[in-house]
Amino acid sequence: MHDDGRYDDPRVIGLTGDLVSRETDDSGRAAPGLPVSPSPRLPDGESAWRNSPASGGIRPPSPEVPLTRNVHDSSRASDPQAPERVALGRESAAVPARAEVAVPQQSTSGPGRLAADPTLVPNAPSGRQDGADDTYVSRETSTREEDDPPLAMEAMRAVQILNPSGEVTMPRPDRTRVMCVANQKGGVGKTTTTVNLAVALALHGNRVLVVDLDPQGNASTGLNVPHHTGIPDVYDCLINSLPLEEVAQVVEGIPSLWCVPATIDLAGAEIELVSVVARESRLARAITGYPGHFDYVLIDCPPSLGLLTVNALVAAEEVLIPIQCEYYALEGLNQLINNINLVRQHLNPRLEVSTILLTMYDRRTRLADAVEQDVRNHFGDKVLQAVIPRNVRVSEAPSYGQSVMTYDPGSRGATSYFEAAQEIAERGVKAQVSRNA
Ligand code: ADP
Ligand code: MG
Repeated sequence: MHDDGRYDDPRVIGLTGDLVSRETDDSGRAAPGLPVSPSPRLPDGESAWRNSPASGGIRPPSPEVPLTRNVHDSSRASDPQAPERVALGRESAAVPARAEVAVPQQSTSGPGRLAADPTLVPNAPSGRQDGADDTYVSRETSTREEDDPPLAMEAMRAVQILNPSGEVTMPRPDRTRVMCVANQKGGVGKTTTTVNLAVALALHGNRVLVVDLDPQGNASTGLNVPHHTGIPDVYDCLINSLPLEEVAQVVEGIPSLWCVPATIDLAGAEIELVSVVARESRLARAITGYPGHFDYVLIDCPPSLGLLTVNALVAAEEVLIPIQCEYYALEGLNQLINNINLVRQHLNPRLEVSTILLTMYDRRTRLADAVEQDVRNHFGDKVLQAVIPRNVRVSEAPSYGQSVMTYDPGSRGATSYFEAAQEIAERGVKAQVSRNA
């Protein structure tokens, strides 16, 4: 491993065991312990939705289907006898060949205790307690075929995703779609979603600009765009009014993809913006002033609701909210929706939440099902049919300065992001047709 955390060879990772445990977490091991209380209620409850003057284009929750369903009864308990499955690294990034070994579960104490002992999980179906619940067992064991599609199919998908002919296979919108990828929770997949959707759209004939608006610069890293101190970045556009075209960099290896990087300078922007004229619309001005015609501008927001995110919301017409299929996923969403409504009322009347994407879905957990159901019940058809699974290739890709689309195009992660991008493109065309009708 290099000092900067990159590895020379993907095989090293699997074989040194560095990522083995993560792979195991992703695909086969007992779920980490789930809190037993309190129930995962949104802080503001339903009233915030109902009382909101503008619904934000979001269907308000019906009383029959509370947003705050108790997901404990859906939490997954593990069979303590079930072997853990550990997938070792692939022989090569492009041609998967996994070996699996069974590792007996070690302990029922520690962080995994609740999950490992079903009797400790409130409302656990009785069948789970003696391991006799067929449904549960089949979810636990029927794992690999879907995670690892057969090689030929995987290779076919890879070619489809990489689209070497450069054909326009995803319909291009008739005008630039500026989408802000926002969720004030950290680690829900905003950056991963921005990077992979951008690459997928660009590989399929769209001109795409990624604006990295997070001082951590993760999107710049993921696209392998230099973003060390001294590189002109989005901070210069916001604070020093540098035109975007002087800052945007071509993303190597991906036709028609550009990135406006973020350096650490951006960390100061939140405070410096406070005293700047038209502080909320600096990014909007920079984007409208950019002469290059883009089909998509994707803005990767920081995990906060400060001025940087407000700038993104003012610049965008659409908000894409990635929601992680985890226990606390819905907490804080009210706050985000309220902020979006405020921006729409005062600063950007065109803004709407157009897309919800479920990320890091682990289909072996009932919790993921419960979160998916809740989100679909409340956001309706704004939720994409495509769901992004928890997939170790997705998390490995950035350490190679790549998206999963190019790092392992046959993987489940790449396939799912490709499907999400296709759905976004097709929905855009439908919206355009109804707009023009
Ligand atoms: P955010 O931008 O919301 O903070 P990130 O996109 O940086 O979130 O994702 C947080 C972490 O989760 C990263 O380490 C990323 O590699 C990992 N991750 C994101 N999506 C997936 C996925 N589908 N499967 C596995 N790991 C993922
Ligand atoms: Mg991020």
